[in-house]
Amino acid sequence: MCAIVGVVSDTEVVYLLKRMAYKHQHRSHRSGGIATYDAERLLYHRERGVGKFPEIFTEEALARCKGTIGIVHLRWATKGELTMDNVHPLSGTFQGKPFFLAHNGEISFRQDLEKQFSDYQPLVTADTKFIVGLIEKSGQKNFVEALQYAFSILKGTYSLVILYENTLYAVRDSTGNRPLFLGRRGDAVCVASESSAFAVARIPSENIREINAGEMIIVHGKGLAVESKHILAPAAIAPVLKLCLIELMYSMYPATVILGRTVRNIREQLGFSLAQRYRPDADIVVGVPDSGVSAGRGFARGLGLPYVDGLLRYHQSGRIFYYGMGEREDNYLLKYDAIAEDVAGKRIVIVDDTMFAGDTIKKVLGVCMQAGATEFHIAIPSPMIISPCFYGTPTSSDHRRLIARDYHADAEKLLGEINASCGGSARSLGFLTLQEAEQAVVDTKPFLFGYEHITANNFCNACFLGGTRHIPVDIV
Ligand code: SF4
Ligand code: MG
Repeated sequence: MCAIVGVVSDTEVVYLLKRMAYKHQHRSHRSGGIATYDAERLLYHRERGVGKFPEIFTEEALARCKGTIGIVHLRWATKGELTMDNVHPLSGTFQGKPFFLAHNGEISFRQDLEKQFSDYQPLVTADTKFIVGLIEKSGQKNFVEALQYAFSILKGTYSLVILYENTLYAVRDSTGNRPLFLGRRGDAVCVASESSAFAVARIPSENIREINAGEMIIVHGKGLAVESKHILAPAAIAPVLKLCLIELMYSMYPATVILGRTVRNIREQLGFSLAQRYRPDADIVVGVPDSGVSAGRGFARGLGLPYVDGLLRYHQSGRIFYYGMGEREDNYLLKYDAIAEDVAGKRIVIVDDTMFAGDTIKKVLGVCMQAGATEFHIAIPSPMIISPCFYGTPTSSDHRRLIARDYHADAEKLLGEINASCGGSARSLGFLTLQEAEQAVVDTKPFLFGYEHITANNFCNACFLGGTRHIPVDIV
């Protein structure tokens, strides 16, 4: 789960790139980098670092990034060590000139590529090196054809921004698994992982659109001309939109509008949908901030109970998902506060967006119990996650536990483990079915026109189904 941004402008781009990247920190804040091109002096510049946003994008580093075209990456590694060599943008050479590339997604079918590029850039372990390698070794006569060659071989998910000479290439794989948006104002063309980031570029929503699945956008530095091309994917991959459901439920910023629908509203609809079938007897509904709040409001509306902000999040503690396990233990206790006035003596439905390891719910119940809550029902408006992701969401790391997988999706057993940590005060546990979740996204009222064709078939659901995968995987 990464963020990518690209900007082409009549004027210097570095601060616009920084500002747009800043609004993507919810997607990752463990490493990042920027590459720019100064077309007047024919100079490239790249700055990369491991660490948090302010540690990487310092005034000194940015002052070195001259130019009117550039790309940024914020990385949460799904493959490859967290070392400088793996920090994007990665660089390659095509016809004697450098290019820089930043990737969100994961090349899931790569054993042959691993052999082909075994002695290639030995310090780079990230799967993105295959994209760079295929472009370099394509033997094609121009850069667009080299890209097409790479896309005709790559099996996996990718949203990409690539800088070559005075041109920006922005690409979304033929399943559109990872988001990517294009926006325009008079003096700049921008691409970014989330539409919410275009506000800092003062680009109004009517000037923003999704880059389509299987589309390559080419933005020329000279005159800011924009071209659109189809990419040629391998025959093994059906060119059908399969947007990551976890992006909608968990990863994206609620203000982003995707599939014409506001992410906040999608989460509300997911919660509302769960309340149609799972109707626990309780006093109040409390969402786990931040990403469980919208779902909580929808669930409360569906159930006809009051929604209460009984749980607050201490924002300076960061997003727990990104920390190592040792730190996570402590950070949960630092992250949440329950309001005793709201929760004491109450039977509470706690709503969270998703359940991976189950740690968040256990800690949140503990925090609420300490504040006097008497019993709990746990509503998770997502299907159970029973398989790691091989397409770019960091659930596949070996250390990351999936509680639903461990108990073979047996909700009673999951509840048993949760109860062991909270003295038996959790009375019930409800999840959405996959069909309900997909339908809830479709049922969310669109804000923009043009997405009437979206159906329940347009989502990736591999981590909810286990073995069923629409894009080949050979790395299990
Ligand atoms: Fe998203 Fe799950 Fe598909 Fe991975 S497997 S892309 S997390 S829906
Ligand atoms: Mg959360």
